[in-house]
Amino acid sequence: MKKANILLIYTGGTIGMKQDPETLALAPFNFEEILAEVPEIKKIVHTIDTYSFSPPIDSSDVEPTFWKELAKLIKKKYHLYDGFVILHGTDTMSYSASALSFMLENLEKPIIFTGSQLPIGMLRTDGKENLISSIEIAAARDSVTGRAIVPEVCIYFESQLYRGNRTTKSSAENFKAFHSPNYPCLAQAGIHIKYNTPYINYPSKWGKELIIKTAIDTNVAIIKLFPGISDATIKSTFDISGLKAVILETYGSGNAPTKPWFLDLISNATSKGIIILNITQCQAGTVDMEAYSTGIMLKKIGVVSGFDSTTEAAILKLFFLMGHSSSNQSIKELLMNNLRGEISIN
Ligand code: ASP
Repeated sequence: MKKANILLIYTGGTIGMKQDPETLALAPFNFEEILAEVPEIKKIVHTIDTYSFSPPIDSSDVEPTFWKELAKLIKKKYHLYDGFVILHGTDTMSYSASALSFMLENLEKPIIFTGSQLPIGMLRTDGKENLISSIEIAAARDSVTGRAIVPEVCIYFESQLYRGNRTTKSSAENFKAFHSPNYPCLAQAGIHIKYNTPYINYPSKWGKELIIKTAIDTNVAIIKLFPGISDATIKSTFDISGLKAVILETYGSGNAPTKPWFLDLISNATSKGIIILNITQCQAGTVDMEAYSTGIMLKKIGVVSGFDSTTEAAILKLFFLMGHSSSNQSIKELLMNNLRGEISIN
Protein backbone atom coordinates (compact mmCIF):
# COMPACT_ATOMS: atom_id res chain seq x y z
CA MET A 1 0.00 0.00 0.00
CA LYS A 2 1.24 3.48 -0.87
CA LYS A 3 2.34 5.56 2.09
CA ALA A 4 -0.16 8.16 3.28
CA ASN A 5 -0.55 11.83 2.46
CA ILE A 6 -0.93 13.94 5.56
CA LEU A 7 -1.86 17.57 6.14
CA LEU A 8 -0.21 19.08 9.20
CA ILE A 9 -2.09 22.13 10.42
CA TYR A 10 -0.37 24.50 12.82
CA THR A 11 -2.67 26.70 14.89
CA GLY A 12 -0.27 27.75 17.66
CA GLY A 13 0.46 26.67 21.23
CA THR A 14 3.58 25.79 23.16
CA ILE A 15 4.75 23.13 20.69
CA GLY A 16 5.68 25.83 18.16
CA MET A 17 7.03 28.44 20.56
CA LYS A 18 10.51 29.65 21.25
CA GLN A 19 11.86 31.23 24.40
CA ASP A 20 12.92 34.84 24.04
CA PRO A 21 16.46 34.80 25.45
CA GLU A 22 15.98 38.15 27.16
CA THR A 23 12.45 38.12 28.56
CA LEU A 24 12.23 34.28 28.75
CA ALA A 25 8.61 34.59 27.56
CA LEU A 26 7.36 32.06 24.98
CA ALA A 27 6.39 33.42 21.57
CA PRO A 28 5.40 31.56 18.36
CA PHE A 29 8.12 30.82 15.83
CA ASN A 30 8.10 30.00 12.14
CA PHE A 31 6.19 26.80 11.43
CA GLU A 32 8.71 25.52 8.86
CA GLU A 33 11.24 25.43 11.71
CA ILE A 34 9.09 22.85 13.51
CA LEU A 35 9.51 20.39 10.66
CA ALA A 36 13.23 21.09 10.62
CA GLU A 37 13.31 19.92 14.27
CA VAL A 38 11.93 16.50 13.25
CA PRO A 39 13.27 15.52 9.82
CA GLU A 40 12.37 11.85 10.64
CA ILE A 41 8.75 12.61 9.77
CA LYS A 42 9.38 12.46 6.06
CA LYS A 43 10.26 8.75 6.38
CA ILE A 44 6.83 7.67 7.67
CA VAL A 45 4.58 9.33 5.12
CA HIS A 46 4.42 9.75 1.36
CA THR A 47 3.83 13.48 1.50
CA ILE A 48 3.39 15.87 4.37
CA ASP A 49 2.01 19.26 3.51
CA THR A 50 1.69 22.02 6.01
CA TYR A 51 -0.81 24.77 6.61
CA SER A 52 -0.28 27.47 9.19
CA PHE A 53 -2.85 29.73 10.81
CA SER A 54 -1.70 33.29 10.60
CA PRO A 55 -0.92 34.52 13.14
CA PRO A 56 -0.59 31.39 15.28
CA ILE A 57 -2.57 31.77 18.51
CA ASP A 58 -2.28 30.76 22.12
CA SER A 59 -5.24 28.43 22.50
CA SER A 60 -6.69 30.65 25.26
CA ASP A 61 -7.70 32.92 22.37
CA VAL A 62 -9.70 30.23 20.56
CA GLU A 63 -13.18 31.39 19.50
CA PRO A 64 -16.01 29.67 17.59
CA THR A 65 -14.85 31.39 14.36
CA PHE A 66 -11.59 29.44 14.71
CA TRP A 67 -13.45 26.09 14.84
CA LYS A 68 -15.44 27.08 11.76
CA GLU A 69 -12.27 27.98 9.90
CA LEU A 70 -10.71 24.66 10.89
CA ALA A 71 -13.78 22.65 9.81
CA LYS A 72 -13.92 24.48 6.47
CA LEU A 73 -10.22 23.89 5.87
CA ILE A 74 -10.62 20.15 6.53
CA LYS A 75 -13.62 19.98 4.21
CA LYS A 76 -11.70 21.79 1.46
CA LYS A 77 -8.66 19.53 1.72
CA TYR A 78 -10.46 16.30 2.68
CA HIS A 79 -10.17 14.55 -0.69
CA LEU A 80 -6.43 15.28 -0.94
CA TYR A 81 -5.23 13.66 2.30
CA ASP A 82 -5.50 10.37 4.21
CA GLY A 83 -5.31 12.07 7.60
CA PHE A 84 -4.93 15.38 9.37
CA VAL A 85 -2.75 16.38 12.35
CA ILE A 86 -3.61 19.61 14.12
CA LEU A 87 -0.99 21.26 16.32
CA HIS A 88 -2.89 23.17 18.98
CA GLY A 89 -2.25 24.64 22.42
CA THR A 90 -3.15 22.27 25.21
CA ASP A 91 -5.22 24.73 27.25
CA THR A 92 -8.36 24.50 25.12
CA MET A 93 -7.52 21.45 23.01
CA SER A 94 -10.36 19.39 24.52
CA TYR A 95 -12.85 22.11 23.57
CA SER A 96 -11.57 22.30 19.98
CA ALA A 97 -11.52 18.51 19.58
CA SER A 98 -15.09 18.36 20.92
CA ALA A 99 -16.14 21.15 18.55
CA LEU A 100 -14.71 19.38 15.50
CA SER A 101 -16.24 16.05 16.55
CA PHE A 102 -19.71 17.61 16.33
CA MET A 103 -19.08 19.76 13.27
CA LEU A 104 -17.78 16.93 11.06
CA GLU A 105 -20.42 14.41 10.00
CA ASN A 106 -19.62 11.12 8.19
CA LEU A 107 -15.95 11.39 9.11
CA GLU A 108 -13.85 8.56 7.64
CA LYS A 109 -10.34 9.91 8.18
CA PRO A 110 -8.28 10.58 11.31
CA ILE A 111 -8.17 14.12 12.70
CA ILE A 112 -5.48 14.05 15.40
CA PHE A 113 -4.96 17.00 17.72
CA THR A 114 -1.65 17.21 19.51
CA GLY A 115 0.68 19.71 21.14
CA SER A 116 3.20 19.67 23.94
CA GLN A 117 4.02 20.91 27.41
CA LEU A 118 7.53 22.00 26.35
CA PRO A 119 8.38 23.73 23.03
CA ILE A 120 9.64 21.40 20.32
CA GLY A 121 13.06 23.07 20.21
CA MET A 122 13.82 22.34 23.88
CA LEU A 123 16.02 19.42 24.81
CA ARG A 124 13.49 17.72 27.11
CA THR A 125 10.54 18.40 24.82
CA ASP A 126 7.57 16.06 24.73
CA GLY A 127 6.64 17.62 21.38
CA LYS A 128 8.69 15.35 19.13
CA GLU A 129 7.16 12.07 20.24
CA ASN A 130 3.68 13.61 20.27
CA LEU A 131 4.11 14.91 16.75
CA ILE A 132 5.72 11.81 15.23
CA SER A 133 3.23 9.35 16.75
CA SER A 134 0.28 11.57 15.81
CA ILE A 135 1.45 11.53 12.21
CA GLU A 136 1.89 7.76 12.31
CA ILE A 137 -1.64 7.35 13.67
CA ALA A 138 -3.10 9.78 11.12
CA ALA A 139 -1.39 7.74 8.40
CA ALA A 140 -2.45 4.29 9.68
CA ARG A 141 -4.75 2.37 7.33
CA ASP A 142 -5.96 -1.19 7.17
CA SER A 143 -3.65 -3.09 4.80
CA VAL A 144 -6.56 -4.93 3.13
CA THR A 145 -9.31 -2.32 2.87
CA GLY A 146 -7.10 0.80 2.85
CA ARG A 147 -9.52 2.40 5.32
CA ALA A 148 -8.38 4.52 8.26
CA ILE A 149 -7.73 2.64 11.50
CA VAL A 150 -8.98 5.56 13.60
CA PRO A 151 -11.57 7.57 11.63
CA GLU A 152 -12.29 9.86 14.59
CA VAL A 153 -11.42 13.27 16.02
CA CYS A 154 -8.77 12.41 18.62
CA ILE A 155 -6.18 13.85 20.94
CA TYR A 156 -2.78 12.16 21.05
CA PHE A 157 -0.66 13.01 24.06
CA GLU A 158 2.10 11.26 26.01
CA SER A 159 1.71 7.78 24.46
CA GLN A 160 -2.08 7.72 24.56
CA LEU A 161 -4.65 8.27 21.86
CA TYR A 162 -7.99 9.48 23.19
CA ARG A 163 -11.38 10.20 21.68
CA GLY A 164 -11.20 14.00 21.65
CA ASN A 165 -14.65 14.67 23.07
CA ARG A 166 -13.94 12.43 26.07
CA THR A 167 -10.88 14.33 27.22
CA THR A 168 -10.11 17.00 29.71
CA LYS A 169 -6.83 18.76 30.42
CA SER A 170 -5.88 17.55 33.86
CA SER A 171 -2.31 18.71 34.44
CA ALA A 172 -0.53 22.01 33.88
CA GLU A 173 2.75 20.35 34.87
CA ASN A 174 3.01 16.70 33.79
CA PHE A 175 3.76 15.49 30.31
CA LYS A 176 0.61 13.42 30.71
CA ALA A 177 -1.61 16.49 30.44
CA PHE A 178 -4.91 14.84 29.41
CA HIS A 179 -7.29 12.28 30.80
CA SER A 180 -10.26 10.47 29.36
CA PRO A 181 -12.00 9.65 32.61
CA ASN A 182 -15.01 7.76 31.27
CA TYR A 183 -13.78 6.13 28.07
CA PRO A 184 -10.80 3.87 27.32
CA CYS A 185 -7.86 5.01 25.19
CA LEU A 186 -8.19 4.31 21.47
CA ALA A 187 -4.51 3.43 21.18
CA GLN A 188 -1.41 3.11 23.28
CA ALA A 189 2.06 3.85 21.87
CA GLY A 190 4.94 1.77 23.19
CA ILE A 191 7.40 -0.09 21.00
CA HIS A 192 4.39 -0.62 18.77
CA ILE A 193 1.23 1.44 18.48
CA LYS A 194 -1.53 -0.85 19.74
CA TYR A 195 -5.03 0.06 18.62
CA ASN A 196 -7.97 -0.61 20.91
CA THR A 197 -10.28 -1.33 17.95
CA PRO A 198 -13.38 -2.47 19.89
CA TYR A 199 -13.59 1.07 21.27
CA ILE A 200 -13.02 2.94 18.01
CA ASN A 201 -16.11 4.26 16.18
CA TYR A 202 -16.36 3.13 12.56
CA PRO A 203 -18.91 4.38 10.02
CA SER A 204 -21.89 2.03 9.65
CA LYS A 205 -21.56 2.61 5.91
CA TRP A 206 -18.33 3.82 4.27
CA GLY A 207 -18.16 6.15 1.29
CA LYS A 208 -20.51 8.88 2.48
CA GLU A 209 -19.61 12.48 1.78
CA LEU A 210 -18.12 14.52 4.62
CA ILE A 211 -20.62 17.12 5.76
CA ILE A 212 -19.62 20.08 7.89
CA LYS A 213 -22.12 21.77 10.16
CA THR A 214 -20.58 24.89 11.58
CA ALA A 215 -23.48 26.84 13.09
CA ILE A 216 -22.86 27.59 16.76
CA ASP A 217 -24.97 29.34 19.39
CA THR A 218 -22.97 30.29 22.48
CA ASN A 219 -25.81 31.46 24.73
CA VAL A 220 -24.78 29.03 27.46
CA ALA A 221 -23.68 29.58 31.07
CA ILE A 222 -22.28 27.24 33.71
CA ILE A 223 -23.35 27.14 37.33
CA LYS A 224 -21.01 25.12 39.50
CA LEU A 225 -22.75 24.25 42.76
CA PHE A 226 -20.97 24.61 46.10
CA PRO A 227 -22.30 24.47 49.63
CA GLY A 228 -23.30 28.03 50.45
CA ILE A 229 -24.06 29.17 46.87
CA SER A 230 -26.53 32.04 47.11
CA ASP A 231 -29.87 32.43 45.39
CA ALA A 232 -28.61 35.80 44.04
CA THR A 233 -25.76 34.05 42.19
CA ILE A 234 -28.07 31.53 40.58
CA LYS A 235 -30.78 34.08 39.84
CA SER A 236 -28.40 36.52 38.19
CA THR A 237 -27.18 33.77 35.87
CA PHE A 238 -30.71 32.85 34.81
CA ASP A 239 -31.42 36.56 34.23
CA ILE A 240 -28.65 36.91 31.61
CA SER A 241 -30.30 38.34 28.52
CA GLY A 242 -30.53 35.87 25.62
CA LEU A 243 -29.49 32.91 27.77
CA LYS A 244 -30.75 29.62 26.32
CA ALA A 245 -29.03 26.91 28.34
CA VAL A 246 -27.20 26.30 31.60
CA ILE A 247 -24.85 23.51 32.50
CA LEU A 248 -25.47 22.72 36.14
CA GLU A 249 -22.35 21.16 37.62
CA THR A 250 -23.86 19.06 40.38
CA TYR A 251 -22.49 16.82 43.13
CA GLY A 252 -21.79 13.09 42.82
CA SER A 253 -24.24 11.27 40.60
CA GLY A 254 -26.14 14.42 39.71
CA ASN A 255 -27.35 15.69 43.07
CA ALA A 256 -28.28 19.23 44.09
CA PRO A 257 -29.76 20.99 47.13
CA THR A 258 -33.41 20.27 47.89
CA LYS A 259 -34.13 23.69 49.44
CA PRO A 260 -37.34 25.18 48.01
CA TRP A 261 -35.67 28.46 46.86
CA PHE A 262 -33.22 26.45 44.76
CA LEU A 263 -35.80 24.16 43.20
CA ASP A 264 -38.07 27.16 42.50
CA LEU A 265 -35.29 28.97 40.64
CA ILE A 266 -34.55 25.89 38.55
CA SER A 267 -38.17 25.22 37.83
CA ASN A 268 -38.83 28.88 36.86
CA ALA A 269 -35.87 28.71 34.48
CA THR A 270 -37.02 25.49 32.78
CA SER A 271 -40.54 26.83 32.44
CA LYS A 272 -39.11 29.99 30.80
CA GLY A 273 -37.55 27.63 28.20
CA ILE A 274 -33.97 27.60 29.52
CA ILE A 275 -32.42 24.17 28.99
CA ILE A 276 -30.63 22.88 32.08
CA LEU A 277 -28.09 20.11 31.58
CA ASN A 278 -26.90 18.14 34.59
CA ILE A 279 -23.16 17.34 34.59
CA THR A 280 -21.31 15.93 37.59
CA GLN A 281 -18.43 17.78 39.23
CA CYS A 282 -16.77 14.40 39.84
CA GLN A 283 -13.80 13.68 37.63
CA ALA A 284 -15.17 10.28 36.67
CA GLY A 285 -18.55 8.55 36.64
CA THR A 286 -21.97 9.49 35.46
CA VAL A 287 -25.06 11.49 36.34
CA ASP A 288 -27.86 9.17 37.38
CA MET A 289 -31.02 11.11 38.05
CA GLU A 290 -32.79 8.04 39.37
CA ALA A 291 -30.30 7.26 42.16
CA TYR A 292 -31.23 9.80 44.89
CA SER A 293 -34.33 11.82 45.63
CA THR A 294 -32.34 15.01 44.95
CA GLY A 295 -31.69 13.88 41.38
CA ILE A 296 -35.23 12.63 40.89
CA MET A 297 -36.50 16.05 41.92
CA LEU A 298 -34.33 17.77 39.28
CA LYS A 299 -35.62 15.40 36.61
CA LYS A 300 -39.22 16.15 37.59
CA ILE A 301 -38.69 19.88 37.05
CA GLY A 302 -37.26 19.38 33.58
CA VAL A 303 -33.48 19.11 34.09
CA VAL A 304 -31.81 16.93 31.43
CA SER A 305 -29.12 14.36 32.25
CA GLY A 306 -25.68 14.89 30.72
CA PHE A 307 -24.73 11.31 31.69
CA ASP A 308 -20.93 10.89 31.79
CA SER A 309 -20.09 13.81 29.51
CA THR A 310 -17.15 16.06 30.28
CA THR A 311 -18.04 19.70 30.77
CA GLU A 312 -16.05 20.53 27.61
CA ALA A 313 -18.09 18.14 25.44
CA ALA A 314 -21.34 19.28 27.09
CA ILE A 315 -20.68 22.93 26.25
CA LEU A 316 -19.82 22.10 22.65
CA LYS A 317 -22.80 19.80 22.25
CA LEU A 318 -25.10 22.59 23.44
CA PHE A 319 -23.40 25.16 21.16
CA PHE A 320 -23.79 22.77 18.23
CA LEU A 321 -27.39 21.66 18.86
CA MET A 322 -28.57 25.20 19.61
CA GLY A 323 -26.83 26.40 16.45
CA HIS A 324 -28.78 23.91 14.36
CA SER A 325 -32.23 23.90 15.96
CA SER A 326 -34.53 26.34 17.64
CA SER A 327 -36.80 23.65 19.05
CA ASN A 328 -36.20 23.11 22.76
CA GLN A 329 -37.79 19.72 22.59
CA SER A 330 -35.54 18.41 19.85
CA ILE A 331 -32.41 19.88 21.49
CA LYS A 332 -33.33 18.14 24.75
CA GLU A 333 -33.91 14.85 22.96
CA LEU A 334 -30.61 15.05 21.09
CA LEU A 335 -28.78 15.95 24.30
CA MET A 336 -29.81 12.56 25.62
CA ASN A 337 -28.57 10.78 22.47
CA ASN A 338 -25.03 9.69 21.88
CA LEU A 339 -24.09 11.70 18.76
CA ARG A 340 -20.31 11.25 18.39
CA GLY A 341 -19.38 8.85 21.17
CA GLU A 342 -19.38 11.68 23.74
CA ILE A 343 -21.57 9.83 26.26
CA SER A 344 -21.81 6.19 27.25
CA ILE A 345 -25.30 5.38 26.11
CA ASN A 346 -26.49 3.85 22.85
N1 ASP B 1 -1.04 28.43 26.60
C1 ASP B 1 -0.67 27.39 25.68
C2 ASP B 1 -1.84 27.17 24.74
O1 ASP B 1 -2.77 26.53 25.09
C3 ASP B 1 -0.31 26.15 26.41
C4 ASP B 1 0.07 24.98 25.54
O2 ASP B 1 0.17 25.03 24.35
O3 ASP B 1 0.30 23.92 26.12
O4 ASP B 1 -1.80 27.66 23.65
